[in-house]
Amino acid sequence: MKKVLSLIMAFLLLAGITVPASAFAYEPSYGGYKHVFIIGIDGAGSFIEKANTPNFDRIFGSGAVTYNARTEVRTNSADNWSSILKGVSFLKHNITNDNIGEQEMTSDIEFPTVFTYVRNAMPETKLASFVNWNAINVGIVETDIGVVKGNYPSDEEVTNLICNYLNEGNDPALMFVQFDSVDHVGHDTSSDSAEFISQIEVVDGYLGRIYDTVAAKGMLEDSLFIVVSDHGHLRQYGGHGGITMDESMTTLAVSGKTVITGGKLDKFTRSRDVAAITLYALGIERPNNMTARIPGNLFLGIKGEIRPVYKDPLDWMLSNLSWIITSKTNSNIGFAIYAEVYKAGAKIINSFKK
Ligand SMILES: [Zn+2]
Repeated sequence: MKKVLSLIMAFLLLAGITVPASAFAYEPSYGGYKHVFIIGIDGAGSFIEKANTPNFDRIFGSGAVTYNARTEVRTNSADNWSSILKGVSFLKHNITNDNIGEQEMTSDIEFPTVFTYVRNAMPETKLASFVNWNAINVGIVETDIGVVKGNYPSDEEVTNLICNYLNEGNDPALMFVQFDSVDHVGHDTSSDSAEFISQIEVVDGYLGRIYDTVAAKGMLEDSLFIVVSDHGHLRQYGGHGGITMDESMTTLAVSGKTVITGGKLDKFTRSRDVAAITLYALGIERPNNMTARIPGNLFLGIKGEIRPVYKDPLDWMLSNLSWIITSKTNSNIGFAIYAEVYKAGAKIINSFKK
């Protein structure tokens, strides 16, 4: 398509016809990127908005952001990192904090992560997952498709590892990063503590280091940057797993050459949409069973998709209903109903399958 456009452009120029610059300014987002970086900040939720984050601001100031992306209803880490990387509801993949890593994850399953889809489409490309919480690299990211994995017990060491990896000349099509220090501080002190906010600011520094390394390698033009969090933390007490807004509203920020500057991702955005965005940017067809979607106000020239109701009608119906009840009553009753009814409904549907 690009080639055709440049040929037309060259022809028009030769013919002496002037073309307004904006006529060809739109660059297609589908397959418009060679690299996607998903930077996960565990436990930060939507509280990134409250922190002083010069790096986040300079990266996503020209990008599209929401601090109201919805997590999965159960706000535990394993459930949400799985949904973010798989693009399906937490009750579809069934990975929880209790069972994560019981066995090594392989790619021959109904709901693999985006790593598997990228590997199938690009057999030779480099894939990388660098995390602080190693359970992700055992129990979520597949172990049989050649993903380069690293785990270190501190976010600073994870950052060093990533910068070294990039500086050694590696140019992965997909890199996933998980920082864990904000979550630790959230558990220790709650989300309205000064320590919690300042730890987000520390991690902002790591984000900046990774971004600058990508830029120094000349990869920025072809890269899509995503920052996402798996869940937030309770105020006053700290902790998560429940259904309060502080736990279940989160940040999703995207930056790249075809992302709308100042775009405010639409109100239907969910953290699991990261999976759809990733495959779209790399030009890989979305698997039929994914319920992630491309949010509105993200890519230039692309309308937000309607979430595919028929692929998980129970999730669609209940999540919208729960949202209406929760936002109208200003309580968490909608989310509570969602979780319980979904669990019961999924059980009934599964019993029919067997
Ligand atoms: Zn977490």
